[in-house]
Amino acid sequence: MARVVSVANQKGGVGKTTTTVNLGACLAFFGRKVLLIDMDAQGNATSGIGIRKADVEQNIYEVLVDEVPIRDVIHHTSRENLDIVPATIQLSGAEIELTSMMARESRLKQAITDIKDDYDYILIDCPPSLGHLTINSFTASDSILIPVQCEYYALEGLSQLLNTIRLVQKHFNPELRIEGVLLTMYDARTNLGSEVVEEVRKYFRERVYDTIIPRNVRLSEAPSHGLSIIDYDPRSKGAEVYQALAKEVIAHE
Ligand code: ADP
Ligand code: MG
Repeated sequence: MARVVSVANQKGGVGKTTTTVNLGACLAFFGRKVLLIDMDAQGNATSGIGIRKADVEQNIYEVLVDEVPIRDVIHHTSRENLDIVPATIQLSGAEIELTSMMARESRLKQAITDIKDDYDYILIDCPPSLGHLTINSFTASDSILIPVQCEYYALEGLSQLLNTIRLVQKHFNPELRIEGVLLTMYDARTNLGSEVVEEVRKYFRERVYDTIIPRNVRLSEAPSHGLSIIDYDPRSKGAEVYQALAKEVIAHE
């Protein structure tokens, strides 16, 4: 049965999508069957792994709002063992539409029950907010992977995220736990980077991954080619570190 992991932080631009796509691709590279679910109306995970918006007939919106079976919405990617449920801008309406729906927080959880046996990992790329879409993701998940960008105020806003996790634990999903905290966009040339690493390690202790994701221009180029880093440039630093992260995640199995 799949381990369901939400990649979440309500701050934008911290590396959620980059981590979802590349961790997913690396887990697939190591032989795991992986499904990515794009829960962000921007659809960056969708386009970043090479699914053209024009080829998307139905997306996660129809699964959540119209109860279309998720199996009908799964796309295969060019990487073996890696599938995705895409999102389009249509999803931006779901936040409001879910408000008035029955069992609104468990619609994703219900939707994935049918396919949990088909995968080893289901990775959910969360939007940069703590609204209904994120609550749905957390309710459906076993754990949460939190990317934290190495910058000033890195920890700011994380208390709201942790509060939301506690609320979901209390009301909808008592088993929910933190999978790990991932330091991203580390820049070895500045002192700031190492200060932030120290601060985050002091706060989250052993829950912080040993692997730190550095700034690597290849990681920012890969999505415009519709490829994960291991397909775009397998020799890059970015490919190396996301493989190391995948090994850490597998070691926790
Ligand atoms: P989020 O999903 O949290 O909004 P993204 O993963 O989209 O964040 O990353 C924000 C931007 O930073 C994107 O343009 C992405 O390509 C780039 N980026 C992410 N991680 C790295 C990295 N380690 N090195 C260089 N650029 C990165
Ligand atoms: Mg994103």
